[in-house]
Amino acid sequence: MNYRHAFHAGSFADVVKHAVLARILVHLRAKPAAFRVIDTHAGAGLYDLAGPEANRSGEWRAGIARVLAATIPDAVRALLAPYLDVVLGLNGASLNATGSLLSYPGSPFMVRAFLRPQDRLIACELEPGAAAALTRHLGRDRRAKAIAIDGWTALKAYVPPPERRGLVLVDPPFEQVEDFARLAVGLEAAYRKWPTGSYLLWYPVKSRRITDGLARHVAGIAAAGKPAGKCLRLEFSVAPQEAGAGLVSTGLLIVNPPWTLAGELKTILPELEKPLGQGGAGRFRLETPKP
Ligand code: SAM
Repeated sequence: MNYRHAFHAGSFADVVKHAVLARILVHLRAKPAAFRVIDTHAGAGLYDLAGPEANRSGEWRAGIARVLAATIPDAVRALLAPYLDVVLGLNGASLNATGSLLSYPGSPFMVRAFLRPQDRLIACELEPGAAAALTRHLGRDRRAKAIAIDGWTALKAYVPPPERRGLVLVDPPFEQVEDFARLAVGLEAAYRKWPTGSYLLWYPVKSRRITDGLARHVAGIAAAGKPAGKCLRLEFSVAPQEAGAGLVSTGLLIVNPPWTLAGELKTILPELEKPLGQGGAGRFRLETPKP
């Protein structure tokens, strides 16, 4: 395991993923019944943007810093507020519009901000350094538990949750191409046990053949569920794909999305294309994939 999310914290891919995550959490909170989030590849939970990794990559400067500095219409800002408020709340007085951010929240920290007393988070992380940091960052909060466990094992072990309402976030590092197959197999088993849960799956867009195959497969799993589920596919690019270049396109599959999500994303994403796209090259694609 060489992957360190600290290099990528606050990148364009994190912005898109966490903005979608926050909209799903807003929806889960809208009903009084308890929900649970299972974050299978949780990371360290909190990232120091002044630290060596984030500083070296500078990805957050092309990501969250640009969004915070952008002029965004009020209606879109209102939809992004649940996400941006967590980032701003974390940085408090140290923040100004030029992007002097000091910290960026990872997915477990983002989720924790939305938990009510009745809700729960299970955050799983295998890499020992990140797992220790995650335990430290979640602290003594009886609603949120950090567990040092393999995320694929966790997907089998913790689904379905006792609350029967909630979200599974699967965000592996994709250091190995096998993660695509693990994701497909893991989702299939989890979905069979919990067809009414929501699932947010992240993937890097590098090979059209592989990502189209994953989307078809996941759509097929949802369609075959009892009851049959729905699926949304979102891809967001900041530049044209060039061989050997770093990640320029990020993907999300959302199984059983809140019914309002597609409409919200159609409002939000054009306004993220502007600050996140490199030289006007920001593009998003939102569709209902076919099995
Ligand atoms: N979900 C996080 C967020 O949005 O802030 C980012 C997670 S990062 C993309 C992937 C994480 O998975 C890394 O922290 C890595 O150490 C961890 N990881 C790698 N293999 C794992 C495994 N088999 N089980 C659990 N975690 C793993």
